[in-house]
Amino acid sequence: MTTKTQTINLQGKLQRLGVNRITKILIGILATVPVAVSLPVQALEVEILPKKARLGDTISVLIELESQDQPGIPTVAVGEQTYPAFEIAPNKYRSFIPTTPLEKPGVRKVTISGEGQRQRNMAVYVGDRKFRIQRITLPPGKAGTQATEYELQKVKEFKALQTPEKYWNGVFLTPNKGRMTTTYGVRRYYNGKFANDYYHRGLDYAGAAGSAVIAPAAGRVALVGTVSQGFKVHGNVIGIDHGQGIISIFMHLSRINVKEGDIVKPGQLIGAVGSTGASTGPHLHWGLYVNGQSIDPMTWKTKTMD
Ligand SMILES: [Zn+2]
Repeated sequence: MTTKTQTINLQGKLQRLGVNRITKILIGILATVPVAVSLPVQALEVEILPKKARLGDTISVLIELESQDQPGIPTVAVGEQTYPAFEIAPNKYRSFIPTTPLEKPGVRKVTISGEGQRQRNMAVYVGDRKFRIQRITLPPGKAGTQATEYELQKVKEFKALQTPEKYWNGVFLTPNKGRMTTTYGVRRYYNGKFANDYYHRGLDYAGAAGSAVIAPAAGRVALVGTVSQGFKVHGNVIGIDHGQGIISIFMHLSRINVKEGDIVKPGQLIGAVGSTGASTGPHLHWGLYVNGQSIDPMTWKTKTMD
């Protein structure tokens, strides 16, 4: 009974006030609370994988938005560093965070934010890992081969790629049939002095000179360099852009079967093992980079990172 009376009273009031008056009143109310009305806060669902990360792992940040009304792409930040997120399904985004042996183990604060979305802070624990140690003795006055400026610039530009296209699918293949001789993350002492910035940025395979090097996953050939062009350290080199900040580099090749711009399939022959550049014997060095940092390719070979 009470409800009915109130409804009738309100209708009568509305009729007396007229539509224009109502509009003015509503505008007045809206003007006093602009934030609540113009920026509807949307929910951000976040999942971070793996549950137990260790140094060298690639951390996957999966973000789901409640609706598509606000099309802002979310961003992911760890400290000063921001990482791009790419759409992997409607309203679903994914960002990769690299971790390396140069970092300290412990908790990382991951901040996920996007236009019109409530910012979320997540804590991720990155566990320690023991990396093998090599002791290198260099003869006095010999610092090893020096890279050329051209070589450094070309490789730097290649490692900075964050192409929106996603070329790879499923697990990565082993790029050469040779035995793995040096694992990822090995640290070094040179003449008894610990090299703070050094870690083995990839995997070495001791394939015979001339043995096949295949693409571990699909991608676009974004770098081809040769010794004659000045690639003194890398030697003859191929870089594949797998998309979304994931890139592969293949060093010390004796032969190159692809050119820049080629789209390669997983398992496609791209070159042959050699000992060009700063190399002491025939082997393939394969480096896998995530947003500019060398991570352990083993996780990409054993797990699907789709
Ligand atoms: Zn190597």
